[in-house]
Amino acid sequence: GKRLPHPSSTRIITVSNQKGGVGKTTTTVNLSAALARAGMNVLVVDIDPQGNASTALAIPHSSEVDSIYDVLIDELPLAEVVQDCPDVEGLVVAPATIDLAGAEIELVSLVAREQRLSRALKEYFAHREKQGMPRIDYVFIDCPPSLGLLTVNAFVAAGEVLIPIQTEYYALEGLSQLLKNITMIQKHLNSSLEVSTILLTMYDGRTNLASQVADEVREHFPDQVLSAVIPRNIRISEAPSFQQTVLTYDPQSAGALSYREAAAEIAEKGAAAGR
Ligand code: ADP
Ligand code: MG
Repeated sequence: GKRLPHPSSTRIITVSNQKGGVGKTTTTVNLSAALARAGMNVLVVDIDPQGNASTALAIPHSSEVDSIYDVLIDELPLAEVVQDCPDVEGLVVAPATIDLAGAEIELVSLVAREQRLSRALKEYFAHREKQGMPRIDYVFIDCPPSLGLLTVNAFVAAGEVLIPIQTEYYALEGLSQLLKNITMIQKHLNSSLEVSTILLTMYDGRTNLASQVADEVREHFPDQVLSAVIPRNIRISEAPSFQQTVLTYDPQSAGALSYREAAAEIAEKGAAAGR
């Protein structure tokens, strides 16, 4: 594959959009896989109780498995829950179990409730360094479709937000609420958080609508929208049922190609911005 620049320090990217079904999980797993296959060390943190990213990456996540729930609620070290992804070398995953559904409420009464993921990541990076393990280049956090405390933990832990936008009617609807929440986080909890990346997903090139929506989003966010666009592609939606990313399932598909392009662009834009 193509050689990509390593980031100057670990990039922690939260994949967020409070709308469901816009491609958050698909984007998390395929970008992570593309970057890992290009030689990066990548950590996926699944903080959606549905555990779809864990499933797609073939990570066991039944409720007996130690998971991000135990990290957030009981302060179990992240190192103890991280598993290797069998499909992709260089990719490790902190899985989510269904227990996480209760965490949104359990977090409310805990100390430093917004900072728990951030602290766990810092501790994990220090642990890796002490063990002589390679530095993590990228962390992708797959968020649930809501703006509750789990998503707040992701925003506080991250340096960047990646917003996947489904290239359809009402694409921009709900975006102002998301951006307002991010502004609140910047003001009160994490002043270095940036919306660095917007990715257009499920693009159907046969419709005028898709290109109109794409133009509109680019007009609003000229610096954030990637040139690479993810097409609507059946291979992308089939891959998870084979517990593979589309990059392994069908490396020549339009879906795999587009996620490789998006990953390269994220790495190259990041390097150009000094990340
Ligand atoms: P979210 O995590 O935002 O809820 P998902 O990534 O789970 O969204 O995607 C929702 C559904 O759409 C899934 O069934 C997924 O396989 C499918 N999907 C996502 N991206 C594409 C695409 N580019 N082409 C075809 N199907 C897609
Ligand atoms: Mg999801």
